[in-house]
This record gives sequence, C-alpha cells and structure tokens, in this order.
Amino acid sequence: MRWIFLAVALACVAVLGVAWLRPTPSTQQSQPRADEAMAALAYPEPLPVSAAPAYDPPSEACNDGGAYAPAAARNGQSLDGLAFKPFGRPEIGWRIYAPQVAVEIASTCSFDSAGFANALAGWQRAHGLPPTGLMDPATFDVMRVRWHMKRPFVILNRAVGCPPPPPPSALVAAEPKYVYGAKVIQLRGDAMASYRRMVADARAADPAIARDPLALKIFSGYRSPEENDLTCLLQGGCDNVSRAPCSAHRTGLAFDIVVGSAPGGRVDSTADFNRLAMSQSPAYRWLVRNAHRYGFVNYVFEPWHWEWSPPEQRGARRA
Ligand SMILES: [Zn+2]
Repeated sequence: MRWIFLAVALACVAVLGVAWLRPTPSTQQSQPRADEAMAALAYPEPLPVSAAPAYDPPSEACNDGGAYAPAAARNGQSLDGLAFKPFGRPEIGWRIYAPQVAVEIASTCSFDSAGFANALAGWQRAHGLPPTGLMDPATFDVMRVRWHMKRPFVILNRAVGCPPPPPPSALVAAEPKYVYGAKVIQLRGDAMASYRRMVADARAADPAIARDPLALKIFSGYRSPEENDLTCLLQGGCDNVSRAPCSAHRTGLAFDIVVGSAPGGRVDSTADFNRLAMSQSPAYRWLVRNAHRYGFVNYVFEPWHWEWSPPEQRGARRA
C-alpha cells in the first residue's frame, strides 16, 4: 500500500515538474503552427520518400550463380549471424532489416541468392562502397542514414530543433474501426486520410492482410510534448533509439501500426525476436513495398512506426 501511495505521489510530482518546465500557454500561442513552421523553414532537402533506387539496378536473375555465388552463400550465413550494432545496440543477424534492404537495392530475389548479392554490389558501387555484394556493418550504416534522411521530421529536428505540436484544430480522432484497443487516438487529418486509403488498398491487395482483423490498426498517434517529457522523466531518460526525447508523435504525423508480433511479444516490443516476427508479417512486407506511395516512411528500428510526410516535404515531388 505504501508503495502504491509513493508511486502516485512520484507521478504527481513528475507531472507538476513537467508542467513547470513547459512554456506557459501564452508562450505556446506565440509559437508558429507546426505545418507553417515546417513549410517556412529552410532545412536540408529530405531524400525522396519514393522507393526508387538511387542506382541502375541490374536485371534480375536470382539464381544465376556468376561471380556473386560466394557472396550469396556468405549473406545466407550473415542473415542470422552478423554481429553488429545497427542502432547502437548489439544485434545478431540482419534478417529483421532484409525487407527494407531488398527495397533499397531494388531486388525481389531471396536474400541469400546471387541475384540479391549482385544487386547489393550495384548499390554499393553507386554509394562509393566496395562492391562486394556482402551485407556488412558499413553498408548497413549507409542505408540506415539514407532511411533516416527520408524522414522530414528527422531533418527538421536536426536543423532547427524539436518542432512544435500542431494546433488542436488540425487533429482528428481515428474511427474506432482503425483503433487497436479501446482508446481515443488523434492524428492530423490529412495524414489520417492517406492512412485510410492505404489500409483499404492493402486489404484489397493481400488476402492475408484482409483476413487479419488487427493488421494495420493504429495503437498510438499524436502524443503531446508534455506526455513525451513525462515518459522520458518516468523512464529515467530517453535514449533516442527506443524512446526519443523529441518524439515524432508530437507532430500528429506519426502512426504506430499493428504489423503483428511474436507469440508472447507486444505490438510495440523492441525485443529482437519480436521485431523479427514483425518483419516477416504480410502487413509489414506490404508496407515496406507500398507505404511510400501514400507518403509514409518507416523508422526501421521499429517495424510499427510510420511517419507521414506532408506532400510539400516529399523529396520525390521535387525530384
Ligand atoms: Zn511510434
């Protein structure tokens, strides 16, 4: 009982502390609207949201052994054996990220095939890396940065700092049929409209997605700066990998979407076994190949986290 009282008291102190740390309402009113701020500020161009490869992919001959058969064999081993730290945390194997890698190098071959290694070598050559055809930490790191640079939120945050939240009038509540569980989830109206179109198309395109009543439902959307700060405070800080001190969710453009989970795993667990299961789900595979057409970009460490890019901020528009 004493512990419960202590926990409640601590939470109250934290809330009051955060409220004190945040700007006063009058200060907030003087801040520019999020969309105006993002549109008006000059910041580095994001990479195109489009999945178009940044090199000329070779014609696909997946089983053509050729020069890349040895690389294919080694990729087959490293898929579940490569020791690296793709996001700062030690991991074994790159299979979780293989669907994104396949889209990046424009290959539809299996990840351990000579065709895949050949495509990877072409991508490496185009990005100033030795064309080994092998997935290695240096190659992954160049891809990781490219994927980050497709997120306008990341670029804006780095260039000018944490963006302000949208005005309440820009937010809409997701209809219950799109919500995982029973809660109110708010998102920016234009982002929500794109999401609805995307879900309808995904269900029409893939029977496995249509059969799964939970697939692609939203389990988190807009989260206020105060909520963001409180989460960091209660968790003893945010590491900027699994928790961000400036979360994209404050923009009302970030969706956490159900893409499955492993038995015993949550829809938002970063445990590697859980993310591996997500990366192989029909919903995630479809999103990786198609979500860009609706303006959505994935934070690749979290298969469930997708950010919507307002059309004026999509590099593809200008390309
Ligand atoms: Zn998220």
